[in-house]
Amino acid sequence: MEKITIKENIKEVENIIAQECEKAGRSPSDVTLIAVSKTKPVELLKEAYAYGCRDFGENKVQELLDKYEALPSDIRWHMIGHLQRNKVKYIVDKVYMIHSVDSLRLAEEISKEASKKNVCVNILIEVNVADEETKYGVSCEEVRQLVCDIAKLPNIRIKGLMTIAPFVDDAEENRLHFQKLKKIAVDIMQKNIDNIDMEILSMGMTGDYPVAVSEGATYVRVGTGIFGIRQYMSE
Ligand SMILES: *Cc1c(COP(=O)(O)O)cnc(C)c1O
Repeated sequence: MEKITIKENIKEVENIIAQECEKAGRSPSDVTLIAVSKTKPVELLKEAYAYGCRDFGENKVQELLDKYEALPSDIRWHMIGHLQRNKVKYIVDKVYMIHSVDSLRLAEEISKEASKKNVCVNILIEVNVADEETKYGVSCEEVRQLVCDIAKLPNIRIKGLMTIAPFVDDAEENRLHFQKLKKIAVDIMQKNIDNIDMEILSMGMTGDYPVAVSEGATYVRVGTGIFGIRQYMSE
């Protein structure tokens, strides 16, 4: 098996983020690298932690809970995968942020469970910017109404927007999608809706994060670029 050097991988990603920030006149401290650790064993997460990573992204509730138990408590856990309403209760008081909110019903469930546990949950609205049929997320036209509706709920706070851009060979093809997400955030900010922020833009993955950073990403979610390719177990 090839030796994966997680530390070098993270350094490389950080360097590229810094270069893109420099070109765009941004500060690298405005971009947080989320290490997407789904399917990867705890030992590899520990290596990333030892290097200094404190933000980890997972897309399955049970896996997130197992890793939450096994790793230090100063980690910020990001739920980045589709979330079923019946599983919300297990994670509301454990995650730092839920990136994948795309319906009022899901937000209501988060709000309800967060109220029971007396916590306030940070969320992002997932936007299907390219209108792909296979993707979760609300359409660009629906974002503003959803934001207005969720803003009224207790114990939940909208921090910004998230998107999973199309899988493309040339990352440049996604530039317009990242620009679009940014524009939606700016438009919503100008509406001055109470109880919301639009400071977080979670966009960019291994294949396209440099482009996302140059278009204003504040969170990039990198899995393969840090931990290597994923092997999915058949069930
Ligand atoms: C898996 C995943 C990522 C990371 O993907 P890579 O291409 O491995 O960097 C980012 N965001 C979401 C929502 C994911 O599910």
